[in-house]
Amino acid sequence: MIKFLDLQKINLAYQEQIEQRLLEVFRGGWYLLGKEVEKFERNLKDYVEADHVIGVANGLDALRLIFRAYIELGIMKAGDEVIVPANTYIASILAISDNGLIPVLCEPDERSFNIDVTKIEPLITSRTKAIMLVHLYGRAVFSTDLFDLATRFQLKIIEDNAQAIGAEWNGIKTGALGDAAGFSFYPGKNLGALGDGGAVTCKDQVLANTIRAIANYGSSKKYVNIYKGLNSRLDEIQAAVLDEKLKYLDVDNEKRREIANYYLKHIHNNKILLPEMPTDEKSHVCHVFVIRCINRDELQRYLTEKGIQSLIHYPIPPHKQEAYAEYNTLSFPLTEKIHEEVLSLPISPVMEDREVRYIVDAINQF
Ligand SMILES: *Cc1c(COP(=O)(O)O)cnc(C)c1O
Repeated sequence: MIKFLDLQKINLAYQEQIEQRLLEVFRGGWYLLGKEVEKFERNLKDYVEADHVIGVANGLDALRLIFRAYIELGIMKAGDEVIVPANTYIASILAISDNGLIPVLCEPDERSFNIDVTKIEPLITSRTKAIMLVHLYGRAVFSTDLFDLATRFQLKIIEDNAQAIGAEWNGIKTGALGDAAGFSFYPGKNLGALGDGGAVTCKDQVLANTIRAIANYGSSKKYVNIYKGLNSRLDEIQAAVLDEKLKYLDVDNEKRREIANYYLKHIHNNKILLPEMPTDEKSHVCHVFVIRCINRDELQRYLTEKGIQSLIHYPIPPHKQEAYAEYNTLSFPLTEKIHEEVLSLPISPVMEDREVRYIVDAINQF
C-alpha cells in the first residue's frame, strides 16, 4: 500500500542526527525554555528573515496568541472583524472567534484555492481590523494590491503559514510578508515535529514581547504576571528536532515540487482537474497535491482498491460545521464546490519514483 504520508520514513531519513539531538536534550536535563528553543528560534528567524520568532505549543496557539496580543495592546477589541478565507482549515477561523473577534469569510480563487484578493474590499467595514491570509496547500498568496489595500484601510495582515513554510513571494518568505504569522510543526506539516509545536513570527518588538509573555502565564519575569496568560510553549525536545530538520527543509520542499511537476506532466485524464503550479515555483512548497474530480468519492474508492491512500482537504467547509451553527445558512458556492471535489494524492520527500509512477498509471486508467 502507498501511504498518504509515511511519517516514519520521513523522520528516519535523518535518524542519526535526530537521535543525537534527542539524546543531548535528554541527558542535558533541561526541558523547557532553554537553549534548544533559543537556537531554533534564531535559526528560524534567519531562515524566514523575520524580525522576531516565538516558539509556542502548536499552530492554533500561534494564531490565537497573535490576536490575543493585539487585544491586550488595545489594537483590537471584542466584536472587531477579521477577514479570512472561507476555504481553509477550521483552525484559522477558531483562532479569530476564540478571541471574541468576528471571522468574516471570503470566497477563494478557484485556480489557486487561496483567498480571492479582489473580493476582500467589499467585506471591509468600520470594524475590520485585519486580513488573515492562509497559504493553503503550500501556495503563497500575496500581492502589492493586497498590501496597498491593507495599508489604505489600516488593516493588519496576519498569515496562517501552517502549510507553507519555505514558500516565497518575490523572494520574501511566507511568515515575513505580513505583520505577524503563525507556523505549525504538527508532524504532517512540511517541517514536522515528533508531536505538537508551533511558532509566531512578527515585525513589531512590542507585539513579540507581549506574545512571549502571554504564552508563559502572562509573565516576562518569574512570578510577576502582567496578563491573564496561558501556557503555550515549544519544548526543548521538539525544538531540537525541528532545528535539525530545518537544515533539510529546502531540499525536502524541492523534492515535493519535483513530484508535483511529475504528476502535472503525466496525469492525463479528462475527468480530473489538476492544480496549477505558479510561474514562480518557489511560491509553492506543495504541502499537499490537490486534484479535483466531479466523482471524487468514486475516485477515492478506486484508489483505495488500487492500494493508494488519499485524503480530503477538507470534506466539510467551516461555515457548514456544527461548531459554527450561526454561519450554516450562509452561502459560499465556490468554497462548497471545492470541498465536494477535492482529493489529495500522496506527496512527500521520501516517495519512491515507482510509487509516483504507479499512482499516475492508476489515475490515468480511472
Ligand atoms: C495545521 C494547521 C493549523 C493548526 O496547526 P496545529 O499545529 O495543528 O494546531 C492551522 N491552520 C492551518 C491552515 C493548518 O493546516
